[in-house]
Amino acid sequence: MLRARRYKAKFGDMEVVRTIEELQTSGGALRRRFGSLALVPTMGALHDGHRALVKAAVDSGAGIVASIFVNPLQFNANEDLSRYPRDEAGDLAALRACGCHLVWLPDVATMYPLEGATTITVAGPAEEWEGKARPGHFRGVATVCAKLFGQVRPDRAYFGEKDWQQLQVVRRMVADLHLPLEIVAVPTVREPDGLAMSSRNRFLNAEERAIAPGLHVILSATATALRSGSASDAALAAADRDLNQAGFQVDYLALVDAATMSALPQMAPGARLIVAARLGTVRLIDNIAV
Ligand code: AMP
Repeated sequence: MLRARRYKAKFGDMEVVRTIEELQTSGGALRRRFGSLALVPTMGALHDGHRALVKAAVDSGAGIVASIFVNPLQFNANEDLSRYPRDEAGDLAALRACGCHLVWLPDVATMYPLEGATTITVAGPAEEWEGKARPGHFRGVATVCAKLFGQVRPDRAYFGEKDWQQLQVVRRMVADLHLPLEIVAVPTVREPDGLAMSSRNRFLNAEERAIAPGLHVILSATATALRSGSASDAALAAADRDLNQAGFQVDYLALVDAATMSALPQMAPGARLIVAARLGTVRLIDNIAV
């Protein structure tokens, strides 16, 4: 079977490793040096949202491990894995500039050896919304996160609130499996016009890019209406209409319990407004606290 060749490189004081053995040697040294390890899992094509995760991890004083792995298991057959943006040189430069110490860059055969027989299925918070829209997606996310946690053995792992449901799925898995790490959430980083940063934004054409900030604008207005006592049915129907008028095709727009992801019939403490909508071929997701 194909095995990743040994590859260990230094970028200033940041190390890049591609085999489990190298990861465990370098990660162990980092843990001894800093007393704890923080992991930032990514799929690369890094932007300021990812940088915010690395910076939050750096602020904790831990040794920082960032992983870059475009995880085939979280793309379903209808999604174009080959179109996912990749920029290894740019990512390494960005990670180094943010203060990352160690980059974990496994290939697919290292992450998913042929003899592998285990995947992780989370029910509960994984079932609705992205779970329905992207069958198999959260099985891929949970499986790769469990593997990353086992490989790196971090004390903390950092996730963005941008992918709110993913954050809840990972938290649920960590709690259910009694995994010995803490999940830390980092607020969504946005463009100046409000559009949540995403590696997929580069696929928006000029016209779509001009429409895209409307997603956050309409979500914010709906959250304000809900906070000031509007009935949730009416507020959601108005938001759906506004999104359609702006040019979005809405996959879902829902008021949910922030942790369980169950739909809420009306405003309640800990409510979250979540949305997925398409502009042409690009699917955008966003969410906001209510
Ligand atoms: P990805 O590379 O898209 O898998 O994302 C890696 C991590 O970065 C995930 O925890 C995402 O939630 C997080 N992330 C992506 N975009 C943003 C953003 N705009 N703000 C904050 N975190 C983000």
